[in-house]
Amino acid sequence: MAMEVFRIPIMLIPEQRCGVTALFRTESCFIKFPVELLSQPRLLRIMIDKAYWSCLGKKALPELEKRTAELNCRYFGFVFHKVRFHRQFRRWGSCSSLKNINISHRLIGGPQQLMDYIILHELAHLKYLNHRKEFWTLVKSTGVNPAAIKKDIIAYGQQWQSEYQVWYKQIYAKGGKLF
Ligand SMILES: [Zn+2]
Repeated sequence: MAMEVFRIPIMLIPEQRCGVTALFRTESCFIKFPVELLSQPRLLRIMIDKAYWSCLGKKALPELEKRTAELNCRYFGFVFHKVRFHRQFRRWGSCSSLKNINISHRLIGGPQQLMDYIILHELAHLKYLNHRKEFWTLVKSTGVNPAAIKKDIIAYGQQWQSEYQVWYKQIYAKGGKLF
C-alpha cells in the first residue's frame, strides 16, 4: 500500500519571482518557483523536493509537538526547547545538547508506533546523550521493546525509500500538474 505522503497532488506554478515557496491548500501542495527554473529541470526537481517536505513538515508540526508533549509528560517530564521535522535520510531522529529534538521527515504520516518510539528515544537522550546501559533502561521503562521495533523501522525505511525514489522521478515529469 502506497504511503499517503507520496499521493498528495503537487501543483507547480512558474512565476516571475525569486526563490521557491510551497503551501497546502485544499489537500494539494502548491509550489511556486522562478520561471527560469523550467530550463533547469534537474535543479527544479531538487528545489521542489525540498520545498515539498519542508511544507509537509510544517503542516505536520502541531501534531508532532502535541504527541511529544504527551509522551514526555506521561513518561519523563524533562525540559526541552523545541521539536521539529528535519530532512534526515540516515537518522530517524536526533537530540542536541541545546535540547532540540529533530525527527526525520521520513516519519511524516508514518505509523504511530514507530513515531512514538523515535520520540521516546530522543526524549530519553535529554537525560543521557549516549547509548549506554542507563539510556536503554530509561527507554525500556516506558514499556517499549527497542529490539522488536528496530525490525519494523528498518522495513519501514526500505519501503519509504523505494516509494520516495518513484515519487522523486515523477514529481516534475508527470506527478506535478503544471499550470
Ligand atoms: Zn539514540
